[in-house]
Amino acid sequence: MDLRVRALETVLTQKGYIDPAALDVLIDTYQTRIGPRNGARVVARSWVDPVFRDWLRTDASAAIASLGYSGRQGEHMIAVENTPALHNMVVCTLCSCYPWPVLGLPPTWYKSAAYRARAVRDARGVLADFGVTLPEPTRIRVWDSTAEVRYLVIPERPANTQGMDEIELAALVSRDSMIGTALARTPANAPAQARAPGAST
Ligand code: FE
Repeated sequence: MDLRVRALETVLTQKGYIDPAALDVLIDTYQTRIGPRNGARVVARSWVDPVFRDWLRTDASAAIASLGYSGRQGEHMIAVENTPALHNMVVCTLCSCYPWPVLGLPPTWYKSAAYRARAVRDARGVLADFGVTLPEPTRIRVWDSTAEVRYLVIPERPANTQGMDEIELAALVSRDSMIGTALARTPANAPAQARAPGAST
């Protein structure tokens, strides 16, 4: 795959269709500047601000854009909230559609045939592989991303986080918890840099 991509890039460059420098800027942007910390901020805001949470429910694209996160592959967002009764999980069965402005680039496993096939057939089994066991009564709903619509899972706010501010809460929100293959971290499992503003997740 690497070789094919490189060959394609070379041909397109030679024909003058693409500028390698522009490609580098795009890749760097999504690898280092735009990532899951954006989505984590959206989730943390929804945990502390009921008005924002309602906005997220009714118009996620606008609510997310109000925090400055918008752009390609995130034009039409839907936020799906986890509750004790319902757990949401996101997949793209066709390819790898993913909400770039809030989560950055998708992890390799998200693009794998195994995840794409099994997420819809055996969601509970996939969750178990990720180390997540939900109570039997909890329903699992799987959302299939498309080129038009991208989903952001709003994980449940962990217990014992009442005194935490938005930045501390954001550090509990991992990338996988916003895909639905993990739960939000508990304060005890927060990364060491949890209290540093802009901490990565
Ligand atoms: Fe796709």
